[in-house]
Amino acid sequence: MADKEKKTIKTIKIDVDKCNGCRACEVICSAFHAAPKYSSNNPARSRIRILRDPHRDLYVPVYAGEYTVAECAGRDKYTIDGKEYDECSFCRASCPSREEFKEPDSGLPLKCDMCEGEEEPLCVKWCLVDALQIEEREEEVPEDEVQEEQEDLDIGLESLADKFGVEKIMDALARMKEQD
Ligand code: SF4
Ligand code: SF4
Repeated sequence: MADKEKKTIKTIKIDVDKCNGCRACEVICSAFHAAPKYSSNNPARSRIRILRDPHRDLYVPVYAGEYTVAECAGRDKYTIDGKEYDECSFCRASCPSREEFKEPDSGLPLKCDMCEGEEEPLCVKWCLVDALQIEEREEEVPEDEVQEEQEDLDIGLESLADKFGVEKIMDALARMKEQD
C-alpha cells in the first residue's frame, strides 16, 4: 500500500510568564517583511504584537491570524492567575475594532507566514528568554484534503487546456522538465 501523504504542522508555543515585553520579536518581524527586506523596521507592521501593560505586569505576545470583516458582537475577558486581561487580548484577528495587524499605510490585513523561506521563525530566534518556542510535527493528510487538492488541480488543468489546448500545455511541461 502506498505511503500516506504527510504535512508538517508548525506550532509556536507562547509562554506569557517568560515574556518581558522587550519587543525584539516585533522589530525583527517588521524588518524581515519590509520591502526591500531589512531596509526598515516599524513594529506597527509586525505580524506579532505584544500587548503591554507594565503597571499590571502584563505582556502578551499575539500572532496575526485571519482577517475578519466584522467585529464580534460578544467578547471574552480572561482572568488568569489573578491577572485580568483586556477584551480581545488573545484574539489573532485583523478586525475593524482595533489597529493591530493592519499595514499602517494601506490598512491591509497582516498575517503571520511563519517567516516563509527561513529555517526558523525569526521572532522565535530573537526571543532571548524563550518565551516563544517552535514545535514541529508530521501529520497524515486526510483523504478528503488530498482529494480536494486533486480536484483543484484537475479544474486548473482543464481551464488551461480550454485556453491553450492540450498540445501547448504538454510542450510547456516538456520544456520545464528539460530546464530542471
Ligand atoms: S522577544 Fe520574547 S520577551 Fe521580547 S517581547 Fe517578544 S516574546 Fe516577549
Ligand atoms: S513567525 Fe515570522 S512572520 Fe510570524 S510573527 Fe514571527 S517573525 Fe513574524
